Amino acid sequence: MIAALLLLCAAALLAAPRLLVRVERLRTSPRAALLVWQSLSLSAVLCLLTAAPLALVHPQPWPAPVEVAILVVAAIASVGVLVRLLVNGHNVGTRIRASRDEHRRLVDLVGRHEGDHTRVLPSQELSAYCVPGAGSRLVITEAALAALPDEQLVAVVAHEEAHLRERHDLVLEFFTVLHTATPRLLRTDAALREVALLVEVLADRAARDEVGEVALGRALVALAEATGEDLTPGASVGAGAAAARIRLLVADDPAPWQTLVLYGICVAAFVTPPLLAVTVAL
Ligand SMILES: [Zn+2]
Repeated sequence: MIAALLLLCAAALLAAPRLLVRVERLRTSPRAALLVWQSLSLSAVLCLLTAAPLALVHPQPWPAPVEVAILVVAAIASVGVLVRLLVNGHNVGTRIRASRDEHRRLVDLVGRHEGDHTRVLPSQELSAYCVPGAGSRLVITEAALAALPDEQLVAVVAHEEAHLRERHDLVLEFFTVLHTATPRLLRTDAALREVALLVEVLADRAARDEVGEVALGRALVALAEATGEDLTPGASVGAGAAAARIRLLVADDPAPWQTLVLYGICVAAFVTPPLLAVTVAL
């Protein structure tokens, strides 16, 4: 039955991240790895969304109790995911934009204006971040300006500018909506943390290309120490994930086959469920 097949596909697609998150070397291909995470989630959501409608389009001659049960589960999954997508999509988008607008107004009010979009906060905390979206802001504290040497400041600014230029906020928003639309039992928060880390690695790559790994590495250490982050090599991936990011600065470039395999997984994630569904329907 198509519904059961699509539900199984969705479960497999959502289980894959639990294994992939353990393969740290994938982080050396951050762009391809990000695409894999998004493909797996999007394909799983599409399987769940279409399970019930396709089961109704291709009904069995006379539903046995098991098939009825599967159809009920499929209906709950399809309707549940659709409602969560619509509601969470609206809520996440609205909440993020409201919070950014408020934050932008705040840094405009209390920060020193340096050019159109840079604001310097009168804070003793070593920090730099960006407020993305329309009217984006790059925010840095007086303490960071005073403590970091010029080349580390350039690295920090290059990292934040990469976030803004490549709209990493949209990548995170899209993934968050997909993630929260899937049933809690099937999803893993490790996927969300991994996507957040990959976005940081992408911005680090852009900064490294501009200033080199030494300046960026030292800036990461300085900012992480200021927030008391654990920098020991085996440290787990936390909010800033500085230890993992510093390790990746000196990691070897990925073999071409690794990136190719990752793109292959993306294609397979989208092609396999419909192929199986068509095979069963014929
Ligand atoms: Zn960042």
